[in-house]
Amino acid sequence: MEKDRKLIIAGNWKCNKTVAESVALVTDLKRELAAVKEVDIVVCPAFTALDAVSHAIIESNIRLGAQNMGDNGYGAFTGEVAPGMLRDLSVRYVILGHSERRQYQKESDELVARKAAAAHTANLIPIVCVGETLNEREAGITEQVVEKQVRGSLAGLTPEQVEATVVAYEPVWAIGTGKTASSAQAQEVHAFIRRVLVQMHGESVARRVRIQYGGSVKASNAREILSQPDVDGALVGGASLEAKGFVDLIRNSI
Ligand code: PEP
Repeated sequence: MEKDRKLIIAGNWKCNKTVAESVALVTDLKRELAAVKEVDIVVCPAFTALDAVSHAIIESNIRLGAQNMGDNGYGAFTGEVAPGMLRDLSVRYVILGHSERRQYQKESDELVARKAAAAHTANLIPIVCVGETLNEREAGITEQVVEKQVRGSLAGLTPEQVEATVVAYEPVWAIGTGKTASSAQAQEVHAFIRRVLVQMHGESVARRVRIQYGGSVKASNAREILSQPDVDGALVGGASLEAKGFVDLIRNSI
């Protein structure tokens, strides 16, 4: 389906792959996907492989993303990675507030909002993740949970920054479980997120924000989900770890 917003499909490699494995994977992607113009293709390796992957994708249509970053700049922040360090490696995107970080590192909406602002200041495009747990869905509070996360995680951004932000709706119960939201369930929440964005910043900003779906997306279900009017791409975990699966997923989405 033709949309005004360009599809964006990002592979989140999570805590997987050595440097050599990362370069081998992205080299295969680069070769197989060279002709794809309809989709913004992003790979998000571990920090340790960013530099090597960055070199491997020079002059290709693949863009580089990180999986997290610190909310401060350079300085005495042991163990953190500053936004400017990512820019230095030609990173363009950064995933923020992934549910695994919200769960294991207890990242809050406030912290995600600070990181999102820092990302924009450093000229990085944040991919801000939101999504309800199974308990929350079963309790019928999906919309309350997602609205609070969207408002909280984008708080303080200017309309221009929001417009340039990618939001990833990732129902926690669908991540890495093999359970995908139905295309109708995904569309319902995506349309709801866009209505929240309209309330926050008006129609013309909300219309431009790209909203990805994430949660067990693979080659066989990508087309159906991505054909929904408010689904503008996918954030892909498991199915991005192997070249053939990710290539087929992207080809099937066009
Ligand atoms: C994710 O972690 O962002 C994700 C969507 O994972 P998976 O595709 O494996 O469900």
